[in-house]
Amino acid sequence: MIEKILIANRGEIALRIQRACREMGIQSVAVHSIADADAMHVRLADESICIGPPPARESYLNTHAIISAATISNADAIHPGYGFLSENADFAAMVEEHDIAFIGPSPDHIRLMGDKIAAKKAVADVGIPILPGSDGEVTSLVDAQEIAMETGYPILIKAAAGGGGRGMKVAEDPAGLEEAYQFARTEAELAFGNDAIYIEKFLSQPRHIEVQVLADGHGNVVHLGERDCSLQRRHQKVLEEAPSPALNQTQRDAIGETVTQAVKAIGYKSAGTIEFLFEDGEFYFIEMNTRLQVEHPVTEMICGIDLVREMIRVAGGAPLGFKQSDIRFHGHAIECRINAEDPRTFNPSPGRIGDYHAPGGLGVRVDSGLYSGYAVPPYYDSMIAKLIVHATNRNECLMRLRRALEEFVIDGISTSIPLHQGLIGAPDFINGDYDIHWLETFVAELPGD
Ligand code: ADP
Repeated sequence: MIEKILIANRGEIALRIQRACREMGIQSVAVHSIADADAMHVRLADESICIGPPPARESYLNTHAIISAATISNADAIHPGYGFLSENADFAAMVEEHDIAFIGPSPDHIRLMGDKIAAKKAVADVGIPILPGSDGEVTSLVDAQEIAMETGYPILIKAAAGGGGRGMKVAEDPAGLEEAYQFARTEAELAFGNDAIYIEKFLSQPRHIEVQVLADGHGNVVHLGERDCSLQRRHQKVLEEAPSPALNQTQRDAIGETVTQAVKAIGYKSAGTIEFLFEDGEFYFIEMNTRLQVEHPVTEMICGIDLVREMIRVAGGAPLGFKQSDIRFHGHAIECRINAEDPRTFNPSPGRIGDYHAPGGLGVRVDSGLYSGYAVPPYYDSMIAKLIVHATNRNECLMRLRRALEEFVIDGISTSIPLHQGLIGAPDFINGDYDIHWLETFVAELPGD
């Protein structure tokens, strides 16, 4: 039984995990950098411990400080949230070596899925469809040329250790391959300290569709449907919805079943997400995220299951309390990621919040650590709030989202609220007719000042 959880994160996700703990009667320990001493996740915590200076590598990524904080506070588990240490297999192993439960999958599963080349092989072996491309790592330009020719242009060169949309480069034709190859290798080395790359067919109009799973390590695995995360800028998700407007029920059931069987076959435990590109009715694996995701609330809204609660229960050794046939999906949910940034230039806009009012009402959820007078620090990710709206169908959800965005007041800094207001009014979005490149075009066509 887990009685006390240290939350190794900050901002809205630290609060989100804290809320689940409180509802389960579990004590929670917040950790924070000096810059976050006044943050809401610290103010609402049962206990809090300062773990270092503002830069993340000295605080939220400081594994020794975090393990020490867990030991001092007698926490029997650590939830890493997303980002920071959530996909660091060495950290997960270190936590377990200290007899602390890591609320997530095993270090081996984190390591496997963190290597995208190994992950692709592993999931292909258990029946997940993958994109054509290189069979593993590509180690020379000559090999790259040959594989690209066989695969057919355009192709995408990706970093084996990639993440956050970095280390990817498209080559449209043989002439562009050498530059793309050198660029991707160099960026992979600089960004991830690992220059291993691989080649994949580049899809021109896919949607990004991902399937949420929950597994208890006792052989019980369920899927919680899909999320459509095609609205991206620079490969970063901006708005997500569930269910996907692009799938019919047959496709939905089929991919859910495929993913469930695959996750069972690899012996996975905890929450996880298998991400796909979807084009012309076919799914192609891109990666598995071995952690809670930013966009998990849209799934929670349509299936009424608290994912953090289930992660905690499973980490404590409990079996899942439900079967696939117990899960019912209701209505439609959309999440807007609200960033502290200029809606036109996308430059970060940290600073002190003046007036603050979060929207409310039926079907409206705001996950955020903001409050009036809070100063958004410049050191971390610019996402400051998630607005999640749920309604009986997509149309009503859009009307509710429009209303909720209008109601949201975050004074003192620039936010991406106007971008969301613009994009949810676009006819293509209203019709559910968009792919992963749509938002870039939409942004490029926004009228100038
Ligand atoms: P990361 O781990 O950096 O997020 P992913 O492999 O998940 O990388 O890809 C991120 C995004 O990049 C996808 O959501 C999609 O928009 C785009 N992408 C990835 N692979 C391809 C591909 N083969 N063809 C077209 N777009 C792709």
